[in-house]
Amino acid sequence: MNAPGARDCITAFEEDLCLAFANTRYWRGSAAPTESLVDPAALFGWCERRAGVARTLVRALARDADAAALMTQALALREAIYRLFAATALNQALPGGDLTRLGAALAAAPAREALVRDGSVLAWRVKARPGRVEVLLAPVIWSAADLLTRASMRRIRCCGNPQCLWLFIDRSKSGTRRWCDMGACGNRAKAARHYSRTKQARTAGQSPMGGPSQCK
Ligand SMILES: [Zn+2]
Repeated sequence: MNAPGARDCITAFEEDLCLAFANTRYWRGSAAPTESLVDPAALFGWCERRAGVARTLVRALARDADAAALMTQALALREAIYRLFAATALNQALPGGDLTRLGAALAAAPAREALVRDGSVLAWRVKARPGRVEVLLAPVIWSAADLLTRASMRRIRCCGNPQCLWLFIDRSKSGTRRWCDMGACGNRAKAARHYSRTKQARTAGQSPMGGPSQCK
């Protein structure tokens, strides 16, 4: 254990942080998906708030990096991560190019050098190289690589709402969870089915919530 010092620290992250990052693009199955990472400020904010990257580290990267290039690299990595886990959810072969991209990002990501105290929690201290997207997204990259090699990989699902297509880990006992969120997509699916039944218009394969998901 080392002395306090949170400047170049990243706090512990959820197992499925990489899926949360992939899901920063909403409604992937719709004609006009919603992008939440609309500019570098949104990306930096997400990394600080959700991924546990220290504010001082984010600010240093924001100051030193070519913001436009960083955004392009970050979104390309996000899409590679989405495709990898979407393929998993659909029991398809992992796209080789995306696996190579993730491997390269992992190699370029900073090492977790030491455990340090960051307030009341523990954090990893990293040696940050200025301007590198792999520093900003280090916890996302670690999460993706870890999840790809864990047993919970078999529990990756793609939301059954074809408009949504969010990725999630099915932690249900039965292993049959279909929706990213029952309160949102699940209830919408129920309402759609009810509407179809009452209109007697539902035929096999035509329900807006029916059929297998096609993650994209
Ligand atoms: Zn959903």
